[in-house]
Amino acid sequence: MAETMKLQVITPDQEFYNGEASMVELNTADGQLGIYPMHIPLTVAVLPGVLSIHEGSEVKKAALLSGFIQVLPEQVTILAEACEWPEDIDGARANEARIRAERRLSENSAEIDVARAEAALKRALVRLSLAKE
Ligand code: ATP
Repeated sequence: MAETMKLQVITPDQEFYNGEASMVELNTADGQLGIYPMHIPLTVAVLPGVLSIHEGSEVKKAALLSGFIQVLPEQVTILAEACEWPEDIDGARANEARIRAERRLSENSAEIDVARAEAALKRALVRLSLAKE
């Protein structure tokens, strides 16, 4: 069995990652997935969460927002709306986004798009969970 697979993460503005991984963990519409090499083919929606890229004993973490993942036995491709390393996350901006979303959700007004505010809150919380001080 192959020990690693190829992982590519593409966002609208860059190729975020292109390398080998022994395991990849992320949040999807099918729940939290841990993908090892030789996984059965799968395509599923990505939900906001932490992307963990394992390579041997090393683990890299990034904030992964919405998108799609295609899994093939030796190749995993993620097309994401946005993906950020912890050092690239602006914690103050994410905190403002969290406060804005929480305020909208607490207003309980017909003007508020609840699903949109909930999605913004999830993105902010994922970023805050990884942001450096
Ligand atoms: P905001 O309301 O602050 O714009 P958002 O969740 O609506 O947050 P997105 O639509 O997910 O933002 O992202 C738009 C772009 O801004 C992406 O390129 C993303 O990487 C970047 N971005 C958003 N929030 C942050 C942050 N806190 N730190 C670094 N980059 C961010």
